[in-house]
Amino acid sequence: MRHLHWFQQDLRLDDNPALLSHAAADSLLCVFLMPRPKPWCNTVGLGPQRDRFLRESLTELQRELQALGQNLMVLEGSPELVLPDLVARFGITEISLSRCHGSNEAKTLAFLEQKLTIPLVVHRGNTLFQPEDFPFGLAEIPGVFSPFRRQVEKLTVKTPLAPPERLPPPPAAEFDSIPPSPHSRHPALPLPGGKRAGERRLQQFIDVDKSIVDYKETRNCLDGLDGSSTLSPWLANGNLSVRHIAHRIFDFERREIANESTYWLYFELLWREFFHWRAVVDGPKLFRIGGVVGKPRLSPFEPRQFARWCAGDTDFPLVNALMRQLVATGWMSNRGRQIAASCLIHELQGDWRFGAAFFEKHLIDFDVGSNYGNWQYIAGVGHDPRGGRQFNLDKQAAQHDPDGLFTRKWDGYRAPQPAFVTDAADWPITERDLGDA
Ligand SMILES: Cc1cc2nc3c(=O)[nH]c(=O)nc-3n(C[C@H](O)[C@H](O)[C@H](O)COP(=O)(O)OP(=O)(O)OC[C@H]3O[C@@H](n4cnc5c(N)ncnc54)[C@H](O)[C@@H]3O)c2cc1C
Repeated sequence: MRHLHWFQQDLRLDDNPALLSHAAADSLLCVFLMPRPKPWCNTVGLGPQRDRFLRESLTELQRELQALGQNLMVLEGSPELVLPDLVARFGITEISLSRCHGSNEAKTLAFLEQKLTIPLVVHRGNTLFQPEDFPFGLAEIPGVFSPFRRQVEKLTVKTPLAPPERLPPPPAAEFDSIPPSPHSRHPALPLPGGKRAGERRLQQFIDVDKSIVDYKETRNCLDGLDGSSTLSPWLANGNLSVRHIAHRIFDFERREIANESTYWLYFELLWREFFHWRAVVDGPKLFRIGGVVGKPRLSPFEPRQFARWCAGDTDFPLVNALMRQLVATGWMSNRGRQIAASCLIHELQGDWRFGAAFFEKHLIDFDVGSNYGNWQYIAGVGHDPRGGRQFNLDKQAAQHDPDGLFTRKWDGYRAPQPAFVTDAADWPITERDLGDA
């Protein structure tokens, strides 16, 4: 039995059911395929920080695998082409993976299932619960968060699985080390990829600083590591398992204190859970301009406005600062994301999908369900009973950055610019333009 484990958003050894499933194999080929997002909504490729965080995560995973006599093969190319090729080259008899929740990923799986003649075993390792834990069938999953939460929050989160003590050896092959990213961490938020850094942050947030105790009051801070847990990059890349984090919260509540704030961190993990499972059910609707509700939305695409929003050069200083923070560090707070998204959708009348694509490129915690689901929520085309959220940008700035420190830190104050520019080719030409000619 020659197995292949296809790592995707499960870049860890512990609590990884798919990886544990290879115990009886004679050999195991561990593979990761670098994501190459297709051009979409004027956006292409991975942003520098997302690329950096991913490479750091892979380098650490490779070291951990090497410590078990294993290795990690990192390749470029689409799974539809590369995996069948590896199956043929190494005589693979079974592939396993942890399911990713996007509709493109589902299409890829369907294609591979058709094309390959060997078992493709799909595990689900990146969520708190499995569909069989829910008191409803997946197709009947509530369309609104509150009823979902009420039905699932009392369910038992299974104990995370220990890492394997040993793994089958790799087949004879060339394993290159992962080329480091040419981009360095930003000093304002130098979050390193990899499990160890994620564990350190978890330890710091819960046990050392005990910031979890007043998380509900501080979670809207605009800077990372300041008020919210900032665990999302390690969660999204799978360096940390969500069940592991949930159990750390429960342990803390048993040992130290259980209050509204400790509960609230778990509550936010339930939001993540909601968007994950909704993404499975909603499929391609997650990417339509009319969203999951199919609401027609007039959104004239104005390239200059979009480019200014991306560059942090709008007439809204706080939004500028947030966008510059995103591109420089790869992270933005939840409140920041809501403000920046509201600006593009409701002030600049932009197509929400262009904003979501730009976030996808840059966020080191990019997660398809959470990103597209939250964007739809703000655009009023998602699972929101209130039908959209428009934030008053002046009020938000006064509340969350009253002294303008954050805005100044990220150079958000810019000279206002006209909404439209005229150039020599503008029409019609007036008598005055013609002068004496
Ligand atoms: C427009 C927009 C786009 C977003 N895109 C993403 C994305 O690509 N990836 C992503 O992980 N989150 C996304 N979020 C959700 C949220 O902003 C981030 O999870 C959060 O800011 C991460 O910081 P944190 O780890 O400090 O969060 P905390 O406040 O400490 O929350 C703990 C964890 O709960 C989860 N969580 C918190 N809020 C949400 C939420 N609203 N939706 C889903 N999960 C949540 C995250 O896994 C987070 O790490 C988006 C929100 C908006 C408004």
